[in-house]
Amino acid sequence: MYDVIIVGAGAAGLTAAIYTCRKKLKTAVISIDVGGQTNLTSHIENYPGTGPMHGIELMKRFQNEAIGFGAELIMGKANKADKIENGFRIGLANGEEYECKALILAYGKVPKSLGVEGEEKFMGRGVSTCVTCDAPLFKNRNVAIIGGGNSAVEGALELATFSKKVYLTHRRDSFRADEITVEKLKNNSKIELVLNSIPLKVIGDKNVEGIEVENVVTKEKRELKVDGIFIEIGYVVDTSFVQHLVKVNEKKEIIVDDRGNTSCAGIFAAGDITPVLFKQTVIAAGDGAKAALECYRWLTGGKGAVLDWTH
Ligand SMILES: Cc1cc2nc3c(=O)[nH]c(=O)nc-3n(C[C@H](O)[C@H](O)[C@H](O)COP(=O)(O)OP(=O)(O)OC[C@H]3O[C@@H](n4cnc5c(N)ncnc54)[C@H](O)[C@@H]3O)c2cc1C
Repeated sequence: MYDVIIVGAGAAGLTAAIYTCRKKLKTAVISIDVGGQTNLTSHIENYPGTGPMHGIELMKRFQNEAIGFGAELIMGKANKADKIENGFRIGLANGEEYECKALILAYGKVPKSLGVEGEEKFMGRGVSTCVTCDAPLFKNRNVAIIGGGNSAVEGALELATFSKKVYLTHRRDSFRADEITVEKLKNNSKIELVLNSIPLKVIGDKNVEGIEVENVVTKEKRELKVDGIFIEIGYVVDTSFVQHLVKVNEKKEIIVDDRGNTSCAGIFAAGDITPVLFKQTVIAAGDGAKAALECYRWLTGGKGAVLDWTH
């Protein structure tokens, strides 16, 4: 049995692991990937003390430090959580189960899906939710990107540096992105704007071969011949597998107090999965530290961490 299981290896989870391991708690971090959303930032400039760098590089440092202090990394998707006699049991999508005395939930947000035919089938075979990670795979190929916010607009510009042609498909006729970025988009000859259009289905055999879109005004359907489809329509929290244990708000975020305690004793939460304001890497990291120290206090019956150095 682990002292602590942390679900999520983003900024919050990996920081929590550094803190619990430094308190000599036997810690496992269960996660789908390592780095989380910070990996998607090609140039993170507002994480203090490191200088600007790729988000993947920053998160690699978090990972090395957490593992260096003794955290065990278990790759997988947690989809089940139960209270057991002396703690909690976490189930993974692959059927594995792990037990712990205390649980820290730090599994952030997941990309929203389009919900169209073929999307799930071709995920990883042409469909991607991460331009920064996968754009280089589509060098000199045709790609489509779906969305209308900053991520989609910036993603289209990034894709245009690799790809032959980029279709930017948006359901409205204007973008929710910074004016200066939209200007760059309109001046880029590799990018074709497919406005007022929604995706209907992903087409392909083994890999993506195209996407069918419909103009919502004219109802005209069109197939865009592409090898890659990037979905950039935002992020959601998915707390469905823990909602029988902890209270969530109307956005399904896990409600915590200012130390990361949830409504269930022994379960803590940190980072973007909570209602914390100004969702940022540095804030998630700080949150992870708080939740880990509070978790240590709880496991040691309130004796553990110092709350304030001046008292
Ligand atoms: C495009 C983009 C650009 C951004 N740019 C910046 C920036 O420049 N500066 C900045 O400070 N912030 C930026 N942010 C915000 C910042 O990335 C987030 O606030 C931060 O990553 C939150 O960290 P987290 O650890 O709470 O969650 P996440 O980073 O979301 O990490 C959650 C982890 O949990 C894992 N996970 C999810 N579900 C499960 C599950 N069921 N089982 C197991 N594991 C699971 C995920 O794989 C992931 O590893 C950006 C975000 C995006 C999307």
